[in-house]
Amino acid sequence: MADPIQQLVQHLSRLPGIGEKTAARLAFHLVRSPESQVRDLAQALVEVVEKIRLCSVCMNITEQVPCQRCSDPQRIDPTICVVSSPSDVVAIDRGGHFQGRYHVLHGVLSPLDGVGPEDLRIDELMQRLSASADTDEQVTEVIIATSANVEGEATAMYLARLIKPMNIRVSRIASGIPVGGELEYSDQATIARALQGRLPL
Ligand code: ZN
Repeated sequence: MADPIQQLVQHLSRLPGIGEKTAARLAFHLVRSPESQVRDLAQALVEVVEKIRLCSVCMNITEQVPCQRCSDPQRIDPTICVVSSPSDVVAIDRGGHFQGRYHVLHGVLSPLDGVGPEDLRIDELMQRLSASADTDEQVTEVIIATSANVEGEATAMYLARLIKPMNIRVSRIASGIPVGGELEYSDQATIARALQGRLPL
């Protein structure tokens, strides 16, 4: 049986941005913390595992399937905004300028980190688009709102190549999001400008 602290360090160091050293510091912090606090943390983790699902339509994290946004009849705009993470959905929604629907990729293409198309929710997006064809809710435009860095741009180009042959307009959020900038840290006015000034791909 492995040492419990060692095991905890191992689990923590698998989290993004947490190296072995930080993991060890967090583990020892937890050991010194009041037991109730640590139990609450463990309970929160269990609840996330038990209650949070991916929406079968947009792939966003949700407690109900389909998610609130996908089942919202107010969202009739035949536009899908493709983002890399659930936090981007929150950032764009906060502005209230986008009335369409979303699709969450859960990452961006990054060959150096071993992230290929099959690791993202791209198949689900393509199935969604082809299923929408010839229906009342036909998607006419896909706005790709990945970050303006190398991986974000590569992902946008890849998707544009797949989607354009389906006769669906593909555009890219434009000015406003700083180059290398993260969407989730952008203010509402910036996101609104970026959506309005989108460019065809
Ligand atoms: Zn959804």
